[in-house]
Amino acid sequence: MKYTSTRDNTIHINASEAILKGLSDDGGLFVPEEIPGLDVTLSDMAQMDYKGVAYEVMKGFLDDFSEEELKACIDGAYDEKFDTPEIAPLKKISDAYILELWHGKTIAFKDMALSILPYLMTTSAKKNNVTDKIIILTATSGDTGKAALAGFADVPGTGIIVFYPKDGVSPIQERQMVTQKGDNTHVVGIRGNFDDAQTGVKNIFNDKELAKEMAEAGFRFSSANSINIGRLVPQIVYYFYAYTRLLKDGVIKDGEKINFDVPTGNFGNILAAYYAKQMGLPVHKLICASNENKVLFDFFRTGQYDRNREFILTTSPSMDILISSNLERLIFKITGNDAIETEKLMSALKSEGRYEITDGQREIISDFYGNFATEEEDDATIKRVFDEDGYVLDTHTGVAVNVYEKYRRETGDEDTVTVIDSTASPYKFTRSVMHAIDAQKYDGGEDFELVDELEKISGMKIPAAIEEIRNAPVLHDIQCDADKMKDCVKHLLGMDD
Ligand SMILES: *Cc1c(COP(=O)(O)O)cnc(C)c1O
Repeated sequence: MKYTSTRDNTIHINASEAILKGLSDDGGLFVPEEIPGLDVTLSDMAQMDYKGVAYEVMKGFLDDFSEEELKACIDGAYDEKFDTPEIAPLKKISDAYILELWHGKTIAFKDMALSILPYLMTTSAKKNNVTDKIIILTATSGDTGKAALAGFADVPGTGIIVFYPKDGVSPIQERQMVTQKGDNTHVVGIRGNFDDAQTGVKNIFNDKELAKEMAEAGFRFSSANSINIGRLVPQIVYYFYAYTRLLKDGVIKDGEKINFDVPTGNFGNILAAYYAKQMGLPVHKLICASNENKVLFDFFRTGQYDRNREFILTTSPSMDILISSNLERLIFKITGNDAIETEKLMSALKSEGRYEITDGQREIISDFYGNFATEEEDDATIKRVFDEDGYVLDTHTGVAVNVYEKYRRETGDEDTVTVIDSTASPYKFTRSVMHAIDAQKYDGGEDFELVDELEKISGMKIPAAIEEIRNAPVLHDIQCDADKMKDCVKHLLGMDD
């Protein structure tokens, strides 16, 4: 199995090399040259636990890892850090199944991949005789940052720098990051939005001069964002896991197609579902749910990607994104793995902020259905599900549930079993969730008062991740302008003279 770049198909590297590099030197993303199949059947998988499924799904993508190496990574990742042995429990809530992907250490779905990425990264370094210190540079819309910090804190041979939009994350998300312990961790608030942070990180990656200076100082960069294939591959696992739980429970028959509905920002999570389908998972539709930053909805409806619009700060901040990086991997696929064509479209995105695909290409992605939810619709959905089912959705999952209702109404598809990814615990967005449930009563409350109220009304125990930050001291308070990120990195690494 080799990986190539979406912008240069003369590149052929191993999985471990792709994980170490994060982003290709040409600015493209690494993609598998072909999607591997499975050695076991879905019925076989239904008998396995999460770790067993993870091994079967990941081994084809990471075939330069030995069985022993990959199993050690999986064992290290999916252990008691998760608060349930199921790792990703599936719950029936009204008309759909909710896949709870937030039982890890930082209570967002990013833990599903970021609890294994540090193991994949250090194993890759060993395999490739890398002795430089690996500096993980990460742009975050709120959740990746904390999950990556938790994963890489005090991991020998690594350091991590996280950039988050100072005014674009929830109070609890910010608190989780700025209280992070670990001698090798850095957290920086930038004056700009997530797209600025992500573009800044990509520019640092593509800075050849800086790379040279870094190498001389004994450092090299990698990424914990979903542009890293080491993030994406572990995310494919839970689609197989969800399907095979339904199979085991007799909800579906072997081979029956189901829908997945994914609250989407950077397009990593839903792309993993698409890869699962390519591997043979029986999937009918991939429902791409957006918030008011509905650039992907417009793309699926018109074939035109256009980021020239206002960036809206919503109550689902992890989806406040206008440049969905992983879409580039889908574009590469629908151009027939044409790096030159992909490069052209991405250049247009950079210079004009827009590009358009052909009707033929649109046809290839008819597996996707896109829609979006407004802030009011998200709130109303959270309230309705709480009133009817006593279940509290977080604001991102609220968007997905609302879009599922629209999907059913618009397509008439009432019968296909549908799994909705729940990407965060409601505790991570307590203020917005409580506002949705009863604005009159809860608006204006203190963050941790609201946390206690949420426990009362939901009957869901307050997660350790929240208790931990209640009284934790702030350890990081650096800020920088979006166009000064490079200087900031050099300063943090002691390279600024
Ligand atoms: C990151 C995130 C998303 C968006 O996932 P992508 O892979 O970027 O599309 C949705 N919800 C939550 C809670 C997240 O943290």
